[in-house]
Amino acid sequence: MLEALQLKRLKQVVQRVYHTVGFYRRVFDEASVTPDDIKTLDDLKRFPFTSKQDLRDNYPFGMFAVPMSSVVRLHASSGTTGRSTVVGYTKRDIDTWSELMARCFVAAGLTKNDIIHNAYGYGLFTGGLGAHYGAEKLGASVIPMSGGNTKRQIMILQDFGPTAICCTPSYALNLAEQGKAMGVDMRSLKLRVGIFGAEPWSEKMRQEIENVLGIKALNIFGLSEIMGPGVAMECLEGRHGMHIFEDHFLVETINPETGEVLPPGEEGELVFTTITKEAFPLVRYRTRDLSRLITEPCRCGRTLHRMDRVMGRSDDMLIIRGVNVFPSQIEAILLAIKGVEPHYQLIVDRAGTLDTLEIQVEVGEQVFANADEVKVLQNMERQIAKDIKDYLGVSAKVKLVEPKTLQRFEGKASRVQDKRRI
Ligand code: AMP
Ligand code: ZN
Repeated sequence: MLEALQLKRLKQVVQRVYHTVGFYRRVFDEASVTPDDIKTLDDLKRFPFTSKQDLRDNYPFGMFAVPMSSVVRLHASSGTTGRSTVVGYTKRDIDTWSELMARCFVAAGLTKNDIIHNAYGYGLFTGGLGAHYGAEKLGASVIPMSGGNTKRQIMILQDFGPTAICCTPSYALNLAEQGKAMGVDMRSLKLRVGIFGAEPWSEKMRQEIENVLGIKALNIFGLSEIMGPGVAMECLEGRHGMHIFEDHFLVETINPETGEVLPPGEEGELVFTTITKEAFPLVRYRTRDLSRLITEPCRCGRTLHRMDRVMGRSDDMLIIRGVNVFPSQIEAILLAIKGVEPHYQLIVDRAGTLDTLEIQVEVGEQVFANADEVKVLQNMERQIAKDIKDYLGVSAKVKLVEPKTLQRFEGKASRVQDKRRI
């Protein structure tokens, strides 16, 4: 049954992108495949992958499969330089997304009688509005908190008595910590369940969140390119692996080096094909997220396959306080500043529950030779930190160092030290 539906939808989407998206016509032609080659689900393997670079090359709207008059919403994945990824939705896409997010809430045991505190960021990021529409679709009462303003959040948690919370797992810990500092017994709040995602986390973190907040913590997965939050969601009964909404997304795992499709159970890079999206359909999109598929039945009775926690990435993307950051974006900002040398180190750590980013960068001899050295250095540090914040949306501590003091590399440069133990 499901397979028949998937095949029907796959055929339709492949036809549609071939006839409406120039990029797909070109790459299908180059790979000598036509939409008619899809006879079974397995035939998808013969089609080329789509990468984030392809999306950047077609920035901002070049991959859309409908005219702009049919697009009712735009979002963009975080990071404003390096050509972030822009995604679009038709009215029906928004309905589907709301429906799938509502399914996620149902999987978390929520109903219209629940109050949902939504602390995912509202804005270009898909988290806030995605969860919001899903909560409304369910009929629950949604509190559109967005991120930040932690003290106020704690007050609302106490006064409005939400039964569920949505945010990043690190922000959940942050809330717990601040609440405790304010003398609030966080375990005695009405919260029952939390829906956490948008960044990697571990079973250890799950236990910690469950302990400090006295709730059940569930994992939700998604990415803007494929839809936003709600591509896959854990269920309350299983609490192991996230059910993928396979009636809307086909999933494969591949070897990131060779592109070869791996059997279920083996760890590899997740590749998604959207089979119902109208505005921005993607065929075989390489997510760079590493995980594995779980095909064993789940205790909850859902027959949708599951994906394991994201175990890492096959590229160098970092997620810092929920913001996606590529080292190349930081490099581009650094190198645009006069006096900065192309030698830098990024040190990512976690202070308490908050991610921190330190950028160490070398400056040229002439900067140090300057009479007002200290002032000049401070100004430069401030300028760099401001540019990073303005362009990428993350706060960074910038430390300028003397020429030739940072490590040099003989092979591939390794400029990132990620010291977070999550
Ligand atoms: P964005 O498009 O900005 O929402 O970022 C999507 C990326 O966030 C994904 O490709 C993953 O790398 C990461 N992500 C989202 N949800 C999770 C999750 N539950 N666990 C780990 N990483 C996640
Ligand atoms: Zn389940």
